[in-house]
Amino acid sequence: MSNRYAPLAAPGVRTLSPYVPGKPVEELERELGIRDSIKLASNENPLGPGMAARAAMAAAIDGVGLYPDGSGHRLRAKLAARHGVTPAQVTLGNGSNDLLVMLAEAFLTPADEAVMSQYCFAVYPIAVQATGATARIAPALGPDHAMPLGHDLGAFRALIGPATRLVFIANPNNPVGTWLGAGELRAFLDALPPAVIAVVDEAYFEYSRDVDCADASLWIRDLPNLVVTWTFSKAYGLAGLRVGYALSHPDVADLLNRVRQPFNVNSVALAAAEAALDDAAHIAASVELNRAGLVELRRGLAELGLRVLPSAGNFVLVDFGRPAAPIYDALLREGVIVRPVAGYGLPDALRITVGTTTENARCLDALARVPGASS
Ligand SMILES: *Cc1c(COP(=O)(O)O)cnc(C)c1O
Repeated sequence: MSNRYAPLAAPGVRTLSPYVPGKPVEELERELGIRDSIKLASNENPLGPGMAARAAMAAAIDGVGLYPDGSGHRLRAKLAARHGVTPAQVTLGNGSNDLLVMLAEAFLTPADEAVMSQYCFAVYPIAVQATGATARIAPALGPDHAMPLGHDLGAFRALIGPATRLVFIANPNNPVGTWLGAGELRAFLDALPPAVIAVVDEAYFEYSRDVDCADASLWIRDLPNLVVTWTFSKAYGLAGLRVGYALSHPDVADLLNRVRQPFNVNSVALAAAEAALDDAAHIAASVELNRAGLVELRRGLAELGLRVLPSAGNFVLVDFGRPAAPIYDALLREGVIVRPVAGYGLPDALRITVGTTTENARCLDALARVPGASS
């Protein structure tokens, strides 16, 4: 395990553990010699891209001999119009992951701190630690709270001090699907010291419209220290293309642009994202498929006697009340890839992405066959 060059690495990188992605279908099939497996591990849209985005990608191929528009002018103009901000308030990223890294690079030094929740997106601590800054972890709400394992904004507040530069909030959250209401989140943001930048990650927002989930993007004009990130990877079905964006005060965007790679979003992705934005029917179909699928998964998991945490996203966290690794392995042998979350400090749970009706049924059938999975 020892790395001979680790002593030469930047201090923040020396102790960093890399992000562990969901297992790709091809890898599982190669390892087990099986076929027709399904992946419900990375919160992708089971429909993939819509027809308009597919056509735009095909048309953009002719242009890939040239560098993309490094400013993403057309996509930024469209996003600005959609969110009621100016193009100078929109920063594009190679996925929203890229923006999280840019935020850390732009605002953090080894003397600084960033606050995040105990159960939060794994990219936040990685981006923070890589800069040498310190990630301060706010204990999550308890398992019996109405938002079990959700963000405890009181615990965030207690960790905010003179060294705090960034606060990361995912709403809805991942790997738990919990969410914050508008009143609670707005009060927290209003009370933040002006020298603290709040990053609200709304990667799953499109899926959350049935519940009282705050949309912080509506507050960009009121709160100069607020950054809201969105992505084309989830409801838009473009995870493989890597496009996301941040909305912020223009001065924050200006700083992000100083660390942004000049051509961080490729031309095929720019074209697809523009087309996808106009394809309201595909988003509506994706959101509806997810709504129905959440009901199917919840009902089936409850019938198996399993505890499912509340979710406003396109996934559910299932608490098995016992180590989940053997259940994960048994599901793999059934050709069903879900997401272990032991690395998030949740060894008894698995995260399952909502799939198509057929995929959800297959996952539930497989779980029913796993000895000891249901209670
Ligand atoms: C999936 C996800 C993202 C999106 O990542 P991209 O880099 O845009 O693909 C961002 N935040 C959270 C919490 C996520 O789960």
